[in-house]
Amino acid sequence: MKTNMGPFILHNDGGVTNQNMARFGQVVDEVVRVVEGSVVSGLAQVLYGDIHIKVRGRLIIRTIGPPPGVRIEGRIQGRYLRADDAVELRCFKRRKLCVDTLSGVLLHELGHRFWSKHSDHTRCRQWAYYSHRLRISGSKEPSELEKRFPSLYSITCPVEHFCETLAHTDSLSGEQSRALAEIWN
Ligand SMILES: [Zn+2]
Repeated sequence: MKTNMGPFILHNDGGVTNQNMARFGQVVDEVVRVVEGSVVSGLAQVLYGDIHIKVRGRLIIRTIGPPPGVRIEGRIQGRYLRADDAVELRCFKRRKLCVDTLSGVLLHELGHRFWSKHSDHTRCRQWAYYSHRLRISGSKEPSELEKRFPSLYSITCPVEHFCETLAHTDSLSGEQSRALAEIWN
Protein backbone atom coordinates (compact mmCIF):
# COMPACT_ATOMS: atom_id res chain seq x y z
CA MET A 1 0.00 0.00 0.00
CA LYS A 2 1.37 3.44 -0.84
CA THR A 3 0.28 6.89 0.28
CA ASN A 4 1.38 10.37 -0.76
CA MET A 5 2.58 12.23 2.29
CA GLY A 6 3.91 15.76 1.85
CA PRO A 7 6.86 15.53 -0.55
CA PHE A 8 7.24 11.76 -0.02
CA ILE A 9 5.58 8.55 -1.15
CA LEU A 10 5.13 6.27 1.83
CA HIS A 11 5.01 2.50 1.27
CA ASN A 12 3.73 0.14 3.93
CA ASP A 13 6.02 -2.81 3.25
CA GLY A 14 4.48 -5.04 5.83
CA GLY A 15 2.69 -5.10 9.10
CA VAL A 16 2.56 -1.39 9.96
CA THR A 17 -0.80 -0.62 11.57
CA ASN A 18 -3.11 1.99 10.03
CA GLN A 19 -2.81 4.01 13.23
CA ASN A 20 0.98 4.17 12.88
CA MET A 21 0.76 4.95 9.16
CA ALA A 22 -1.47 7.90 10.07
CA ARG A 23 0.95 9.09 12.75
CA PHE A 24 3.67 9.16 10.13
CA GLY A 25 2.13 12.39 8.85
CA GLN A 26 3.49 14.09 11.98
CA VAL A 27 6.96 12.68 11.26
CA VAL A 28 6.84 14.17 7.76
CA ASP A 29 5.66 17.57 9.06
CA GLU A 30 8.50 17.65 11.59
CA VAL A 31 11.15 16.63 9.05
CA VAL A 32 9.95 19.20 6.49
CA ARG A 33 10.03 21.91 9.18
CA VAL A 34 13.63 21.07 10.17
CA VAL A 35 14.90 20.68 6.60
CA GLU A 36 13.32 23.92 5.39
CA GLY A 37 14.70 25.82 8.38
CA SER A 38 18.18 24.32 8.15
CA VAL A 39 21.32 26.42 7.72
CA VAL A 40 22.59 23.79 5.28
CA SER A 41 22.09 25.43 1.91
CA GLY A 42 20.30 23.30 -0.65
CA LEU A 43 19.15 20.76 1.94
CA ALA A 44 15.53 21.09 0.76
CA GLN A 45 16.59 19.16 -2.36
CA VAL A 46 16.29 15.95 -0.32
CA LEU A 47 12.52 16.33 0.12
CA TYR A 48 11.27 13.79 -2.39
CA GLY A 49 10.96 10.12 -3.11
CA ASP A 50 10.02 6.77 -1.69
CA ILE A 51 10.01 5.85 1.99
CA HIS A 52 9.49 2.18 2.78
CA ILE A 53 8.26 1.47 6.28
CA LYS A 54 8.10 -1.99 7.80
CA VAL A 55 7.83 -3.64 11.17
CA ARG A 56 11.13 -3.93 12.92
CA GLY A 57 13.07 -7.16 12.92
CA ARG A 58 15.96 -8.02 15.14
CA LEU A 59 18.66 -6.25 13.17
CA ILE A 60 21.58 -5.15 15.27
CA ILE A 61 24.33 -2.79 14.21
CA ARG A 62 27.71 -2.96 15.91
CA THR A 63 30.39 -0.42 15.31
CA ILE A 64 33.81 -0.52 16.85
CA GLY A 65 35.65 2.76 17.24
CA PRO A 66 37.32 5.02 16.44
CA PRO A 67 38.46 5.60 19.07
CA PRO A 68 39.54 2.04 19.83
CA GLY A 69 37.54 0.36 22.50
CA VAL A 70 34.36 2.36 22.09
CA ARG A 71 31.60 0.04 21.04
CA ILE A 72 28.35 1.45 19.82
CA GLU A 73 25.44 -0.88 19.60
CA GLY A 74 21.85 -0.40 18.69
CA ARG A 75 19.02 -1.57 16.54
CA ILE A 76 18.88 -0.33 12.98
CA GLN A 77 15.87 1.94 12.61
CA GLY A 78 16.52 3.23 9.16
CA ARG A 79 18.77 3.01 6.17
CA TYR A 80 19.36 4.92 2.99
CA LEU A 81 19.25 2.67 -0.07
CA ARG A 82 21.69 4.49 -2.29
CA ALA A 83 21.10 2.53 -5.50
CA ASP A 84 17.34 3.20 -5.33
CA ASP A 85 17.75 6.65 -3.76
CA ALA A 86 15.07 5.53 -1.27
CA VAL A 87 14.76 5.37 2.51
CA GLU A 88 13.75 2.37 4.60
CA LEU A 89 12.39 2.84 8.12
CA ARG A 90 11.29 0.42 10.80
CA CYS A 91 8.80 0.67 13.61
CA PHE A 92 7.38 -1.69 16.22
CA LYS A 93 4.19 -3.55 15.44
CA ARG A 94 2.42 -3.09 18.75
CA ARG A 95 3.99 0.10 19.99
CA LYS A 96 2.78 3.56 19.07
CA LEU A 97 5.16 5.05 16.55
CA CYS A 98 7.37 7.61 18.30
CA VAL A 99 7.26 10.77 16.19
CA ASP A 100 10.38 12.33 17.76
CA THR A 101 12.52 9.23 17.31
CA LEU A 102 11.43 8.47 13.78
CA SER A 103 11.75 12.05 12.56
CA GLY A 104 15.38 11.99 13.80
CA VAL A 105 15.95 8.72 11.96
CA LEU A 106 14.42 10.08 8.74
CA LEU A 107 16.51 13.26 8.98
CA HIS A 108 19.61 11.10 9.40
CA GLU A 109 18.81 9.04 6.30
CA LEU A 110 18.01 12.16 4.25
CA GLY A 111 21.44 13.40 5.35
CA HIS A 112 22.92 10.39 3.55
CA ARG A 113 20.92 11.33 0.42
CA PHE A 114 22.21 14.90 0.60
CA TRP A 115 25.81 13.82 1.16
CA SER A 116 25.88 11.30 -1.66
CA LYS A 117 23.70 13.03 -4.27
CA HIS A 118 23.41 16.77 -3.67
CA SER A 119 26.42 18.05 -1.76
CA ASP A 120 29.49 19.94 -2.80
CA HIS A 121 32.76 17.98 -2.59
CA THR A 122 34.73 20.88 -1.18
CA ARG A 123 32.27 21.22 1.69
CA CYS A 124 32.34 17.47 2.30
CA ARG A 125 36.13 17.68 2.63
CA GLN A 126 35.88 20.66 4.98
CA TRP A 127 33.40 18.75 7.12
CA ALA A 128 35.63 15.67 7.17
CA TYR A 129 38.53 17.84 8.35
CA TYR A 130 36.39 19.47 11.06
CA SER A 131 35.09 16.07 12.19
CA HIS A 132 38.60 14.65 12.39
CA ARG A 133 39.89 17.63 14.37
CA LEU A 134 36.99 17.36 16.79
CA ARG A 135 37.77 13.70 17.35
CA ILE A 136 41.41 14.30 18.22
CA SER A 137 40.95 17.58 20.08
CA GLY A 138 40.23 16.21 23.54
CA SER A 139 39.47 13.25 25.73
CA LYS A 140 38.35 10.05 24.03
CA GLU A 141 36.19 9.03 26.98
CA PRO A 142 32.68 8.34 25.65
CA SER A 143 31.17 10.82 28.12
CA GLU A 144 33.50 13.55 26.82
CA LEU A 145 32.96 12.63 23.16
CA GLU A 146 29.23 12.91 23.72
CA LYS A 147 29.74 16.54 24.76
CA ARG A 148 31.66 17.43 21.59
CA PHE A 149 29.52 15.48 19.11
CA PRO A 150 25.72 15.48 18.72
CA SER A 151 25.74 11.75 19.59
CA LEU A 152 28.29 9.02 20.28
CA TYR A 153 27.44 7.37 16.95
CA SER A 154 28.74 10.53 15.24
CA ILE A 155 32.33 9.43 15.85
CA THR A 156 31.92 6.52 13.40
CA CYS A 157 32.98 8.67 10.42
CA PRO A 158 32.45 12.21 9.03
CA VAL A 159 29.37 11.19 7.03
CA GLU A 160 27.62 9.69 10.06
CA HIS A 161 28.65 12.80 12.01
CA PHE A 162 26.96 14.99 9.39
CA CYS A 163 23.78 12.87 9.39
CA GLU A 164 23.64 12.85 13.19
CA THR A 165 24.07 16.62 13.22
CA LEU A 166 20.99 16.98 11.01
CA ALA A 167 19.06 14.47 13.13
CA HIS A 168 19.85 16.50 16.27
CA THR A 169 19.29 19.95 14.72
CA ASP A 170 17.10 21.11 17.61
CA SER A 171 19.57 20.15 20.34
CA LEU A 172 22.96 21.19 18.94
CA SER A 173 25.38 23.17 21.09
CA GLY A 174 26.27 26.70 19.96
CA GLU A 175 29.63 25.45 18.74
CA GLN A 176 28.09 22.59 16.76
CA SER A 177 25.55 24.95 15.13
CA ARG A 178 28.30 27.42 14.24
CA ALA A 179 30.45 24.74 12.60
CA LEU A 180 27.48 23.47 10.60
CA ALA A 181 26.67 26.98 9.34
CA GLU A 182 30.31 27.88 8.62
CA ILE A 183 30.83 24.86 6.41
CA TRP A 184 27.45 24.34 4.77
CA ASN A 185 25.73 27.73 4.56
ZN1 LIG B 1 23.99 6.63 8.83
